[in-house]
Amino acid sequence: MPPTVDYIKSCFDEYNALFFGNSLPPIPVKLSSARTFLGKVTFTRRRSWLFGPLRNENFVLRINTRLDLPEELIQDTIIHEMIHYYIAVNQWKDTSTHGKLFRREMARINAEGNRHISISYRLSKEQQIELYPERKEQIEAFFLRKSQKCNKHQT
Ligand SMILES: [Zn+2]
Repeated sequence: MPPTVDYIKSCFDEYNALFFGNSLPPIPVKLSSARTFLGKVTFTRRRSWLFGPLRNENFVLRINTRLDLPEELIQDTIIHEMIHYYIAVNQWKDTSTHGKLFRREMARINAEGNRHISISYRLSKEQQIELYPERKEQIEAFFLRKSQKCNKHQT
């Protein structure tokens, strides 16, 4: 079942207490039917005065509801996005999108919470076909080639 805003907010509160010491301010949650991401934290960068530092603000947490994803993957996606939020809301600068800071937090939470958060979410063949039914043949051909390669390696 696709997640609701209330469900995402209750997950957010739970993980905020569990993994971030309740330090994250509440964030508006929006559902998305985009085909390009499972989750996303968006924000704007602005100077509060002319020569002031750039600050991240106007945060929004977006979670994809187009796909029928397993609950654990939805939860891991929410936590993944909360790490991005944690870094951005503290105005920290990471070495890249999923840089040193991100990976450190991800490793900490995976260990503390026995989670399986990763830096990239690859969708299964079935999930890709659900998203792109018009590309079903190409997707199936792609996965077929992949499995043939794997078979070759095994022998
Ligand atoms: Zn990410």
